[in-house]
Amino acid sequence: MTTIAFIGLGNMGLPMARNLLRAGHALRVFDLLEASVAELAGEGATAAKSAHDAVQGAEIVVSMLPASRHVEGLYLGESGLFGSLQPGTLVLECSTIAPESARKVHQAAAERNIPLLDAPVSGGTAGAAAGTLTFMIGGKVEHLEQARPIFELMGKNIFHAGPDGAGQVAKVCNNQVLAVQMIATAEAMAMGVANGLDPATLAEIMRQSSGGNWTLEKYNPWPGVMANVPASKGYSGGFMAELMTKDLGLAQETAQHFGNSAPMGALALQLYRMLLKQGKGKQDFSVIQQLFID
Ligand code: NAD
Repeated sequence: MTTIAFIGLGNMGLPMARNLLRAGHALRVFDLLEASVAELAGEGATAAKSAHDAVQGAEIVVSMLPASRHVEGLYLGESGLFGSLQPGTLVLECSTIAPESARKVHQAAAERNIPLLDAPVSGGTAGAAAGTLTFMIGGKVEHLEQARPIFELMGKNIFHAGPDGAGQVAKVCNNQVLAVQMIATAEAMAMGVANGLDPATLAEIMRQSSGGNWTLEKYNPWPGVMANVPASKGYSGGFMAELMTKDLGLAQETAQHFGNSAPMGALALQLYRMLLKQGKGKQDFSVIQQLFID
């Protein structure tokens, strides 16, 4: 049994932490939302009053926060966790953040002999609940091997992407593809339905044809086509449109770093910004479907 501090119990963090708890580890959990902490405490975790409290006695720290500023705020600076963590405590930073920010956090961790991996995930809330996430990991291979048994309780595919920050680069590449696929699928669904097709029939034809993609397999944006996806639950839960917009912004920054052009990603970012202006940022990212329906 390992003592694990888990910080950030949102749509992803809560089911990920639950899998560690169910595997018999001692979990110390913290989130700014007390209800999430209470939920896991009710299942056997220890409720912490702060992030500093959560890491007391922890051998491993896992964090799953929204964006770069939250992660830097948690670990860096005078009040950051790096000031109080014991050297050797293994940190698995699973949030999706800017590769630059991840490298900054790696650097600060290394200065205090704290092994850290940037380990963003793919697979959505269903993958988090099922323990089938894909981890894209940046950092030292020996640290990954040390953490592998923990990753394997939360995920199915554990990839070493490369050195510090490489996990984040892989993640923004992946999410740019995901956003473009989601928009293309939503656009086609709206066009087909407006021209008289049954949405479920159209979705199945495209899924089994050359237009098939992850959104058609697992996350159709048209309400009622698939059970248990956010589109069929009023676009609630899942992956918030504002987080996808953040990732598309990170993808553009990453492209600019070496002068790459990423026009599909740029257009996807503009469309998601329009969606946010409509007040839909807290809804699942498949709500982009509504841009294409009168
Ligand atoms: P979320 O907003 O549901 O959860 C984030 C949680 O962090 C919230 O509960 C919030 O209260 C908490 N938090 C924020 N600052 C904190 C702090 N300083 N201390 C403690 N808790 C704090 O987001 P999510 O969907 O769980 O996503 C988390 C990360 O995973 C994001 O970077 C996102 O881009 C990424 N991600 C999400 C999905 C998905 O399908 N939802 C999939 C892959 C990756």
